Amino acid sequence: MTVERIEGRFVKSFPRPLEPGVLYVSTHFSTAAHSCACGCGREVITPLSPGQWVLAFDGSVSLWPSIGNWTLPCRSHYVIDHSTISWAQDFTREQVLRNQAADDHALSSARQPAWRRVLGRLFGSRR
Ligand SMILES: [Zn+2]
Repeated sequence: MTVERIEGRFVKSFPRPLEPGVLYVSTHFSTAAHSCACGCGREVITPLSPGQWVLAFDGSVSLWPSIGNWTLPCRSHYVIDHSTISWAQDFTREQVLRNQAADDHALSSARQPAWRRVLGRLFGSRR
């Protein structure tokens, strides 16, 4: 069953199985986890750091950038924005490779300007 809303739940460690519709956040490990929103039941782990994923919590949860499950059979792609799942288009193999290259770059240069740009995009998408 496809998930349309996801609630944030702050935990120390992640339970197994992950409950669908819940974004588990471990501040201790600086990582979030959820069951794939397409309903396939696979675990999606998102490390939280500048250059990886950024979590915003204001009662609802937002994760940026999008979740692209290229390595899963479902290949689902969505954005978690204020606890709402917004489905995005499937990426071509070329786009995936380009994104991975961009991710590698962001990881190797996770500095202040990149962090600010991520925040700008995250909060800019609100209005
Ligand atoms: Zn899936």
